[in-house]
Amino acid sequence: MISAIDARMTQATSPQLDRLIAGYHRFREAAWNPRRERWESLRQSQSPEVMVIACSDSRVDPAQVFDVDPGEIFVVRNVAAMVPPFETTPGHHGVSAALEFAVQVLKVREIVVLGHGMCGGCKAALTRELHGTRPGEGGFIADWIALLDEAREPVAAKYGTTGREAERAMEHAGVRVSLANLRTFPCVREGEADGSITLRGAFFAISDGVLHLLDEADGSFAPVK
Ligand SMILES: [Zn+2]
Repeated sequence: MISAIDARMTQATSPQLDRLIAGYHRFREAAWNPRRERWESLRQSQSPEVMVIACSDSRVDPAQVFDVDPGEIFVVRNVAAMVPPFETTPGHHGVSAALEFAVQVLKVREIVVLGHGMCGGCKAALTRELHGTRPGEGGFIADWIALLDEAREPVAAKYGTTGREAERAMEHAGVRVSLANLRTFPCVREGEADGSITLRGAFFAISDGVLHLLDEADGSFAPVK
């Protein structure tokens, strides 16, 4: 008799895994095999010059949007593309660890915060629909997107809390919050001051396929030419 765990382990495939493995074969065929020298040079180390902070949303993959190869961008993805402020409180600071590695070890030259259209995290920040839920039942998300609480107030006051206009304003505000929080990290602030690091805000929506860049002087997003 096999245990439930053994049964799961012997369950070789699923439609989902089949699709992933088919994609893996396409990647081997079309991208990996023809460029073995490139991958060989990446075997020992990586030296990306750009860090991208993006949302976990399945529709906005930075490597796809920017059409880059492995080794070119160092990516952190999370709910709503957030960067928390520099904090030394106990806890597991995943984004801060990645940021530290990118800046101090990889010495990236640019950090791009990539917001996106129809962001569920930003929407939840706006509606506060998960407010008061327990960890594991929405509470982790609620706590995470509370990073947007302050930025939410003027958005909600101007546009309300529902509808695309309000949601987009919240999505844009989220990018500005992450940029502001990046600047609370001493290594980022110093890098920006001595010109070794540039921060960028960007926004992409799969619906129109247009990348926008943030003009930090006036806070507006304009399509990239
Ligand atoms: Zn999102």
